[in-house]
Amino acid sequence: MNPSNYLKIKDKIPSNVKILAVSKGFSSHEIKTIQNIGQNDFGESKFQEAFAKQLILKDFNQINWHFIGKLQSNKLRKIVQNFEFIHSVDSFEKLQKISHVSFEENKNPFIMLQVKLGDDPNKGGFNPDLLRLKWGEIQELKNIRLSGLMTINPRGLSSKENLELFKKCRSLADSFQLPDCSMGMSGDWREAVEAGATWLRLGSLIFGDRS
Ligand SMILES: *Cc1c(COP(=O)(O)O)cnc(C)c1O
Repeated sequence: MNPSNYLKIKDKIPSNVKILAVSKGFSSHEIKTIQNIGQNDFGESKFQEAFAKQLILKDFNQINWHFIGKLQSNKLRKIVQNFEFIHSVDSFEKLQKISHVSFEENKNPFIMLQVKLGDDPNKGGFNPDLLRLKWGEIQELKNIRLSGLMTINPRGLSSKENLELFKKCRSLADSFQLPDCSMGMSGDWREAVEAGATWLRLGSLIFGDRS
C-alpha cells in the first residue's frame, strides 16, 4: 500500500464529496498510515475483524468508524456501541432494532438506508416503494440520525447503466430530503460523483488488492 496513491485519488475527487476508506482485509497499520495523511473515515464490513482493529486503534480519537457490511441481528448491539455510522440498514425491522438499542446504549448513530435499485439477487436493501410506504414510521424512530441512502450496484454494468442507477438513488434521497448518498466504489466512483454521491466507499483504489 502506497500512501501517495491515496493523495492522488483525493486530488481527483471534488472536495465536497467525502471519502470512506474501506479497510476490510487491511491491517490497523495500514489504517494508521492513511490516517496520518488526513483520512479519518474508515469503513468495515465484518464486526469481529473491525473490532480487533478498533481495539488496537482506540487512542486514535479522530477516526470515525462506519459499518458497511451485512447487519446480523445478533451483532446489532455491538455495532451500535462501536460505529458512528451505519450505511447498510436494509430493512425496517433492523432499523427499529437499531433505534431501540441506540436508546438503551445512549447512542445516536448516523444512518444510511440501503436501497435495492438493480436486480442483483445477491444484494439486499429496501425496495423504493416499500421505503415510501414506511417513510412516516421511519421518521418517528428515536436515537438515529437518518442522513441518507446507500446503494451497491450489481457487477458488470456499463458506465451508462451505473450512472442511471446512481441517479435513481440521488433522486430518491432528494425526494426524502436526505442529504447523503453513499454510492460508488473503486470501479464506479466517477459515475457516482457525476450523479451526486456524497460518500464514496473506496477500498482497493486506496489500499490495493485485497488478498
Ligand atoms: C468492499 C466494499 C467496498 C469497497 O470496494 P472496492 O471495490 O475495494 O472499492 C465498498 N462498499 C462495500 C459495501 C464493500 O463491501
